[in-house]
Amino acid sequence: MRTDTGHVFKLEDYRPSDYLILETSLVFRLSPEATRVTATLTIERRDGVVASAPLVLDGDGLTLIRVAIDGRELQPADFLATPDQLTISQAPAAPRFQLLIETEVAPAGNETLMGLYRSSSVYCTQCEAEGFRRITYFLDRPDILSVYTVRIEAKLDEAPLLLSNGNPAGSGDLADGWHYAVWHDPFPKPSYLFALVAGALGKVADSFVTLSGRTVELGIYVEPGKEWLAGYAMDALKRSMKWDEEAFGREYDLDVFNIVAVSDFNMGAMENKGLNIFNDKYVLADEETATDADFANIEAIIAHEYFHNWTGNRITCRDWFQLCLKEGLTVFRDHEFSADQRSRAVKRIAEVRTLRAHQFPEDQGPLAHPVRPRRYREINNFYTATVYEKGSEVVRMIRTILGAEAFRAGMDLYFERHDGEAATIEDFLKVFEDVSGRDLSQFALWYHQAGTPNLTVSSTHNPAAREFTLEIEQSVPPTPSESRKRLMHIPLAFGLVGADGRPVAYDGVEGATVEDGVIHIRKRRQVVRFSGVAERPAVSLNRGFSAPITLSVEQKADDQFFLAGHDSDSFSRWQAFNTLLTDALIAAFRQILGGKEPVYTARLSELAGKIAADEALEPAYRALALALPGEADIARDIGKGIDPDAILTAREALALAIAKANGQAFSSLYDRLADKGPFSPDAASAGRRALRNILLDYLALLPEGTELAARHFRSATNMTDRAAALTVLAHRHRGSPEAAKALADFEAKYGSDALVMDKWFQIQAGVPGPQTVETVRTLTKHAGFSMANPNRVRSLVGTFSSANQTGFHRPDGEGYRFFAETVLEVEKRNPQVAARLATALRSWRSLEPVRQAKAREALLTIAGAENLSADLRDIVERTLA
Ligand SMILES: [Zn+2]
Repeated sequence: MRTDTGHVFKLEDYRPSDYLILETSLVFRLSPEATRVTATLTIERRDGVVASAPLVLDGDGLTLIRVAIDGRELQPADFLATPDQLTISQAPAAPRFQLLIETEVAPAGNETLMGLYRSSSVYCTQCEAEGFRRITYFLDRPDILSVYTVRIEAKLDEAPLLLSNGNPAGSGDLADGWHYAVWHDPFPKPSYLFALVAGALGKVADSFVTLSGRTVELGIYVEPGKEWLAGYAMDALKRSMKWDEEAFGREYDLDVFNIVAVSDFNMGAMENKGLNIFNDKYVLADEETATDADFANIEAIIAHEYFHNWTGNRITCRDWFQLCLKEGLTVFRDHEFSADQRSRAVKRIAEVRTLRAHQFPEDQGPLAHPVRPRRYREINNFYTATVYEKGSEVVRMIRTILGAEAFRAGMDLYFERHDGEAATIEDFLKVFEDVSGRDLSQFALWYHQAGTPNLTVSSTHNPAAREFTLEIEQSVPPTPSESRKRLMHIPLAFGLVGADGRPVAYDGVEGATVEDGVIHIRKRRQVVRFSGVAERPAVSLNRGFSAPITLSVEQKADDQFFLAGHDSDSFSRWQAFNTLLTDALIAAFRQILGGKEPVYTARLSELAGKIAADEALEPAYRALALALPGEADIARDIGKGIDPDAILTAREALALAIAKANGQAFSSLYDRLADKGPFSPDAASAGRRALRNILLDYLALLPEGTELAARHFRSATNMTDRAAALTVLAHRHRGSPEAAKALADFEAKYGSDALVMDKWFQIQAGVPGPQTVETVRTLTKHAGFSMANPNRVRSLVGTFSSANQTGFHRPDGEGYRFFAETVLEVEKRNPQVAARLATALRSWRSLEPVRQAKAREALLTIAGAENLSADLRDIVERTLA
């Protein structure tokens, strides 16, 4: 485990390295306890660097066996080797030389899941961000691009399959039951994209013919016997390859593309060149074991990792500060892919909900950082919603500002200009300036400045002058180490909606640049006057969520209700209804605490009924609209003095009111939506199931609701319906015999399927109320649970701490105590997963005072533990700062 050195890495300290590694030849002789790695590196001194300048290579916990230069063994006096560094103080005077390094590593005992490790007896690697240095000493930084040749030797019976990056370049038998395979990757790549897999795995094979007519062999490797669960992933891969050719003109480059699914994995998946390694959760699926959400995730993540081949691999990052260059851009690309494969409107709403649930709290709390950070202590902690999701929103805004055509031209130029390079955000922005002639310097603040901008908007209509005016004021709240903010360029899409629901025409506009339905906000205060407007329109703002901002709009409730029923922009229509629901919930929350704000329960219930019955709307869209804002969403909008119990009470009361007002209609719609015919994971079928399951959630609150949910559970023919019913029983009817029976039946049926059992853990960890901490504590002793497996930890402990508001934030602090103990226990094995878990307390300062004090105690307990890893110390100290 790497303990904290306290070192802070700064963007402004970036320097190119003195040496390049042109070629990397690796030989692995695999053995669980003692794998030998022989690296032969062709090293070149960079122009202008003095001859014999010291060569310093990165390591992490390495054992050096020997080191040689140009065939000559180095003597101990010639170098200094520690587990974390290899220094050759006097490198050869020749501009180019060969350095041979032999190290020994123990994959079997590697529970960090970084570097070379074993997952269910399969050897595999994870090198992003700095895992390669756990395999051999190297210039382990993304701007060192090298051509790799990898030879893997292993016992044939232990590892019949030997994979690495690139194309196969030979294989054969060796003495004593060993064999070998050689892989060559002609595309220079940084070390974080290196991968190796060796073991006994089943294969699903297919092929794809590219745009230019080349045939690419495709392989998905899974645990033997599970091949039939990889069909959907393969289909998603082929659709991704085709889409990237059509949407971005990007063709795949190698002869083979392989995906391997492993069960112990820190992240979702990894885009290693030609050899993606996946968390098996994002590969394996059929209707019996996976929900519609799982299918959608598999499709999106397969696409995401594949798209990295161009945005990340062919053009990589100069340094880790530029992480968003590959991640934000690739998330944008996978969002577009899913929007094209499914419903664009539904997809956009889902994206925004995710952004608000994960990125907004980050941006508004102690862990806030710019999309391109300027400093870090531990880069593993910057794989954040800000880098990924807000990073994607920034790319989307570039397209909004430039228009689709110029955006595509900019992307084409980016690929042409920077292919084979390690690039920066400045390089990326420059291509769009070059193709459009626009100045994006103010816009670039989206990359450099943290915090969620807010726009305060009010409107007036002057019928005599036929003038409609919007007064818009921007502010960016302070964030850690950035107390003063500069003004941003915010593309605000809008619509003026007339009483008939149609767009209101205007003659002219003053006070801001308005193009294609977008107001360009650049100043602190802008007064935008629309002339020739006879009647007061309702104003629909931030249509399509054109900018990742918060809005404070002075708007009459009647206008909101009107937009929720009539806005032609489907996102804004959803938004209007969601805002009304949120406002009602916040008002109810305040009433519980003694306030007197009006709650439009009857009007909202009526509108919910209309939306549910509106056949002109897709079922998936109706399902999203009917889903009440989550408890965390409500807490975020309240901002301060959070009492999760009061929020739960308010939310359950509104749900019951909507259910009571619409019982008959919801019930008959529920019956009509029952699945007929064979299962299909397509978006339309998934949408019908989603609508039916949200209706169940409401109907379960009415008399005989328990029986309805139990029947839904028993008669379910797919995991989507089964898991939905189990959630309703366990959450809405917590403690009932029906809930207990369903949980027991589920466990009896799926006890041996770890991925399905994750849902069982997750559902129980999410049960609202004070007793859940005890349940979760007990479940950590369950035979199917393991602190060493990230999926199990995330399902149980992660769900409890980040998605169970009332359980986790129990007023006596028991949830926090359990959390602190568990984080420290996970950390002993896997600091990266522990640090990710620990972010669950990032919004602790918004809690009411009693809980706030208890939460702080738990954070101090973690901070006070001995030998804390760099990963965890960084998160905890920033959270407490
Ligand atoms: Zn990615």
